Amino acid sequence: MAIPIPSRQLFIDGEWREPVHKNRIPIINPATEETIGDIPAATAEDVEIAVEAARKALVRNGGKDWANATGAHRAKYLRAIAAKITEKKSYLAKLEAIDCGKPLEEAAWDIDDVAGCFEYFADLAEAFDSKRKTPVSVPMDTFKCYVLKEPLGVVGLITPWNYPMLMATWKVAPALAAGCTAILKPSELASITCLELAEVCRDVGLPSGVLNILTGFGPEAGAPLVSHPDVDKVSCDLPFCFSVSCFSFELDVLHCNDHPPSMVNQQIAFTGSSATGSKIMTAAASLVKPVTLELGGKSPIVVFEDVDLDKAAEWALFGCFWTNGQICSATSRLIVHESIAEAFLEKLVKWCKNIKISDPLEEGCRLGPIVSSGQYEKVLKFISTAKDEGATILCGGAQPQHLKKGFYVEPTIITDVKTSMQIWREEVFGPVLCVKTFTSEEEAIELANDTHYGLGAAVLSQDHERCERLTKAFQAGIVWVNCSQPCFSQAPWGGKKRSGFGRELGEWGLDNYLNVKQVTKYESDDSW
Ligand code: NAD
Repeated sequence: MAIPIPSRQLFIDGEWREPVHKNRIPIINPATEETIGDIPAATAEDVEIAVEAARKALVRNGGKDWANATGAHRAKYLRAIAAKITEKKSYLAKLEAIDCGKPLEEAAWDIDDVAGCFEYFADLAEAFDSKRKTPVSVPMDTFKCYVLKEPLGVVGLITPWNYPMLMATWKVAPALAAGCTAILKPSELASITCLELAEVCRDVGLPSGVLNILTGFGPEAGAPLVSHPDVDKVSCDLPFCFSVSCFSFELDVLHCNDHPPSMVNQQIAFTGSSATGSKIMTAAASLVKPVTLELGGKSPIVVFEDVDLDKAAEWALFGCFWTNGQICSATSRLIVHESIAEAFLEKLVKWCKNIKISDPLEEGCRLGPIVSSGQYEKVLKFISTAKDEGATILCGGAQPQHLKKGFYVEPTIITDVKTSMQIWREEVFGPVLCVKTFTSEEEAIELANDTHYGLGAAVLSQDHERCERLTKAFQAGIVWVNCSQPCFSQAPWGGKKRSGFGRELGEWGLDNYLNVKQVTKYESDDSW
């Protein structure tokens, strides 16, 4: 059943605040095409205010606040946030399903993951208290060397719409755990749950300014965040870093109890499309900010002839159609051994026809609508171009007959695909699986790596040695063996090639928010 959408403002310095230009963006329910509310639209002026609030929160009370607190102190807030999110799970899952169209059951998994991720980074924050200062062995006795890890400072987090609250959490939790303060800019297409995260932060008493949330369009709210000149306006050299999805540890070692931490690093971390990632990298280059980019994908799933057909079909469908096919790591290129292709595809088509496509809030929904009309048109265009280029639409390819409203696309399987076709080369970000067959392991590897992207790759086979060989041969940041898509807060996430660089999650993600400082002391009896 639909629920009222709360009307919110920007969240700056612990308060709801109307955007300077008072503009708002309508929220369209992709299942009904109705306008169900609106969100505030931030601009550069709001970014300015939020950056100032985040900077002050970093070093409030002479530097004894967020950046210099112990990890254990920060962990208490992260745990309280996790508990509150768990308490509100059913409500948040409904909001997520209504906002971005994902089936309610999947939205509920996301909310569990959000809470788990805050818990995980609370653990890392606590553990970090004993790790912030590490001795380094050097070959001269007269020198003593050690490494300090310190929070980078104020970070900007820019996120996409396919996992709105989870992608935000992948960045907010590590950034706060590390002792950074943050400005989150979620996608204009799905911001409701991120604004509810603000409400959760208020509920648990997170110090004001530690997390600021600015909804709005990319060019108006995201770009000014990326290009904020920051430090020049700051009386003490503070860092300004952008990360769009990351984790980090905490640190407060700095023995600078009476002074604000001196952090000059800047970093940009972003999750979204490769096109926007490229723009962000360009903007960051002019400021010499390091960037972390989690971008798009066109991941392969290689199915060998020795698989259990039923199990393999389940993974192939889940790997591509989960979250309505709008997953960066979707295994959307099926590479199947020629000897089983016919039987395998027959099974996939039969099962596709049984996938329940409906309003995401309906019981048993397995495939909801595409997030927006623009994205919906884009997906249909990919399908029609594939047809025009000579591919065969084996099943799906259109809006389901029984749904007259909403941005729905049937689960679609495309065969007779050539490697030169757009459908093989470009990310669709919708429920579209394209298929090629192979006869040798070498050919399978060549097809799997025949992409500019390098996020995920899956192999399904009972031959463990073969799986090992494929694991090594895949040009990807994530490999799944006999499965597709599982993701854990503890394990690194990220790609290579045009899928971006840098890693989120796990201790690798935490490092994105930490500056590594080498300290070398001269210790000699000889007087100078
Ligand atoms: P997008 O690139 O259109 O937008 C992402 C975010 O960037 C949004 O918040 C948007 O407002 C903002 N933005 C847009 N232009 C900007 C600019 N000039 N400066 C600063 N910010 C700007 O992506 P999307 O459509 O929201 O998300 C889908 C894409 O995200 C897909 O390509 C998908 O593969 C990718 N994605 C990748 C991962 C990963 O982990 N690799 C995870 C989820 C999604």
